[in-house]
Amino acid sequence: MKRKPLIAGNWKMHLTIDEAVSLAQEIAKSSQGLEDKEVMIAPAATALAAVADAVKGSPVIVAGQNASWEQQGAYTGEISPLMLKDAGAGMAIIGHSERRHIFGESNAMINQRILGALSCDVIPVLCVGETLDEREEGLTMNVLELQVCEGLEGVSSLQIEQVVIAYEPVWAIGTGKTASKEQAQEAHRFIRGVLGDLYEKRLAEQIRILYGGSVKPENVDDLMAMPDIDGALVGGAALQSDSFDRIIHFT
Ligand code: PEP
Repeated sequence: MKRKPLIAGNWKMHLTIDEAVSLAQEIAKSSQGLEDKEVMIAPAATALAAVADAVKGSPVIVAGQNASWEQQGAYTGEISPLMLKDAGAGMAIIGHSERRHIFGESNAMINQRILGALSCDVIPVLCVGETLDEREEGLTMNVLELQVCEGLEGVSSLQIEQVVIAYEPVWAIGTGKTASKEQAQEAHRFIRGVLGDLYEKRLAEQIRILYGGSVKPENVDDLMAMPDIDGALVGGAALQSDSFDRIIHFT
C-alpha cells in the first residue's frame, strides 16, 4: 500500500501576519509541481486567513494548531473547526505535546477535538508521544497505545481514513535530539499495529504516520526511508524557507 508522504510545518506561536505570508509564499513556490508528496503548514490563528489566501492555487494545505470540539459558543480562547474552515484551513494539529504538557489537555479532551474536527471535515493530525521519563521506565508502548486508543475513541472506519497520526517523542521536540531511525520505525510499526487492532488491517496500512522531533535537512532522508514513516511534523526547521524546502524535497 503506497501512502503519500505528508510534510507538515508547525509554526507554533511565531511570526507576525506579514512574516507568515512571506514564508508561506516561498513554501508555495517550492511546492509547485510536487505530485508525490503533500505539504501542510500550521500558522498562528491570527495569520490563518492571510496565509490561506497567499497559498491559494498551490498544493500547500493550511492547518490550525488546535480545534475546539464545539462549533460555536461561550468557549473563550478556543477556535472551532468551522472557523478554521472559514479561514481556509483544511487540517488541524490536535493533541500536540505542548497542548498536553503545558496546557494539561487529556486524552479525553483530545478525543473530543478529533471528533469535532472530523464532524466538520477538517482532517485531524493526532499527535502522540512519550516523555523521556516514560521511555526510560520502559513505558513507551503503553503510553502510545493509550494515546492512540483513547484519542480515536468513537472514530468510525470511514472517518479513520482521513486521520493522520504524528509520533512525536516529547524528548525530541525542540531539543535537537532526534529519535534514531530505528527507534522511530519501532514506534511507528507499533502504532500501526494498534490501528490494525482497532480497525481493519487494510485501513491501518492506509493511515499516514508522521515522525516529529527535531527533523532537519540533515536527518530527513534517513527517517523518511523507513517503511512506516510517512512524512514529518516539523517545528523549528519549518520556520526557515531553505530548511523546510530541503525537508519537503527529501530523497
Ligand atoms: C513540533 O513542534 O511538533 C516539533 C516536532 O518541533 P521541532 O521540529 O522543533 O522538534
